[in-house]
Amino acid sequence: MERLQKVLAHAGVASRRQSEKLIMSGRVRVNDTVVTELGTKVGVHDKIVVDGVPVTSETPVYIMLYKPRGVISTANDDKGRKTVVDLVENVSQRIYPVGRLDYDTSGLLLLTNDGELANRLTHPKYEVEKTYIAKVTGTPTNDAMKTLRQGITVDGETYAPAKSKIISSDPKKKTAIVSLTIHEGKNHQVKKMLAAMNLPVEKLKREQYGFLTLKGLNAGDYRPLKPEEVKELR
Ligand code: URA
Repeated sequence: MERLQKVLAHAGVASRRQSEKLIMSGRVRVNDTVVTELGTKVGVHDKIVVDGVPVTSETPVYIMLYKPRGVISTANDDKGRKTVVDLVENVSQRIYPVGRLDYDTSGLLLLTNDGELANRLTHPKYEVEKTYIAKVTGTPTNDAMKTLRQGITVDGETYAPAKSKIISSDPKKKTAIVSLTIHEGKNHQVKKMLAAMNLPVEKLKREQYGFLTLKGLNAGDYRPLKPEEVKELR
């Protein structure tokens, strides 16, 4: 038996806090009776309905995917393109990505049906560090890296300081590999930060998400998180 708000959060209905509010405001029924008591425990055979919509008690599942380029980071695509969810086979739960990577970005992406954890991990306050490796056009200067480390504003959007390093640079070919570690998840953030330094991104890969790395995986591979990894993410 689990607490009702936890079951709602795991089923992806809302965060645990929001689920508590749903319960207290009388929008949740268990076995056809409105329940407003937060401590209520429910089991797998109880019928839970929120705003008239049944909630299925799905076992939480946590998957780490090495997203290849050319795959979209949503559960469905109206243009019929391949999605990250299409890559994961033999999982019956309805999973969705935690945050997003651009269509042409590769790297570490988590997929889950645990709405509560997904909400928390993507909340800016949580500050999960994400490390990206970018191939850029141009020759990065130490000054540019220093500027990124201090934080920048681009077109009115402020980006917090990023740990930034030049990994290698080929001034003859005018290309370089740089690494950026950020904790925000703003739209096209790494591309915009580097473009603002006159270093347009040619290729981008997310190497690390918090303490999780892609070790042992090739593009397109995935694996379930170990229970201790899930515990550490919480
Ligand atoms: N920053 C980007 O610009 N793109 C991504 O996919 C992720 C971070």
